[in-house]
Amino acid sequence: MGLFGRTIVTFLPLAPRFIVGWVAKRYTAGENLGQALELMRTLSSEGACFTIDVLGEEIKSIDESSWFINEYESVIDSIVDSGIDANISIKPTALGLLIDEKSALSNIERIVRKAAKDDIFVRLDMEDNRVTQATIDAALTIQHQGLENIGVVLQGRMFRTPDDISKMSKLLGAKSDFRICKGIYLEPPEISYTSYLDIVDSTNRAIDLMLDSGSYTAIASHDIPVIEHALKSLESRGLGPGKEDSRHNPPVPMRKGKGPGYEFQFLLGVRGNIRRDLSNKGHRTRIYLPYGEKWYEYGMRRLRENPGVAVHVTKSLFMPWTNRR
Ligand code: FAD
Repeated sequence: MGLFGRTIVTFLPLAPRFIVGWVAKRYTAGENLGQALELMRTLSSEGACFTIDVLGEEIKSIDESSWFINEYESVIDSIVDSGIDANISIKPTALGLLIDEKSALSNIERIVRKAAKDDIFVRLDMEDNRVTQATIDAALTIQHQGLENIGVVLQGRMFRTPDDISKMSKLLGAKSDFRICKGIYLEPPEISYTSYLDIVDSTNRAIDLMLDSGSYTAIASHDIPVIEHALKSLESRGLGPGKEDSRHNPPVPMRKGKGPGYEFQFLLGVRGNIRRDLSNKGHRTRIYLPYGEKWYEYGMRRLRENPGVAVHVTKSLFMPWTNRR
């Protein structure tokens, strides 16, 4: 499987751009905000809400961050104008985190402050281990300035994740808000689990720790053992569709656009059948919806970082019953 993925990644850059574009169409909402809004209107009928990601990351000079700030400001305006049930996800390196932490922090804060006016939540995506601590620090600093509409992503594969959950939830209490995923970056064995079973186990443990810490928990996985574990964990803690989140005393009022203490999240184009099933059962389900002109560079980079994604994509094309859109 590793070899198959690596072979695809080696030969894919030789494929004509239109073929890559045809594949990418399933996973991105188009090149501009107008196309993203149109797709969200269609997918809203499936009971989903959204988190919008402007494609792009790791800028080379801090000046490039202005483009992302402007684009995200337009996204926030469009969410308000259209009434679509959506929040935003941002990649801190696109706002300069690897160039100048102070400037990146003020860039992120500018977006969070604008979003806060309409109670729109901002999720800081988690990138590779070079920025794990800086991303967490940015979220904590902004929270301490009184902006509560921000949360981070933690990656189940990382050894540090249980510690991060414990520290952040102690500092933020009921305001702590996590997305938990396995983690797409293949991190070294000194700092992360590397086998499938270990990653599933550590992700499941992280879900339980988040739920037990009273944090809002966004479960972002398409993997059945993770989703089934999450469903059992929710049920055993009295959480579920239509139930009040009873983990706090007094109960925490539900934020705009949030579920009762948890939600499930899916990437656009991946395992829509499972997402629709969860939604039909009353769970809040959110689609991660990337759009932008940089779909080619973004897709290629993701594939190079984790050739396993190439296997998933190929399987979706040739065995569509394993992965409904
Ligand atoms: P897997 O075992 O990898 O996948 C289970 C099944 O889902 C596969 O067999 C396949 O059928 C399908 N599948 C999964 N991924 C794909 C794909 N790309 N294309 C086609 N089929 C696929 N990672 C980070 O490091 N940082 C983040 O901020 C981050 N945010 C995320 C946000 C959301 C909403 C989601 C869903 C994932 C996010 N990820 C992020 C990626 C995540 O870490 C995993 O790499 C990815 O979700 C695959 O893991 P899985 O749990 O779905 O399990």
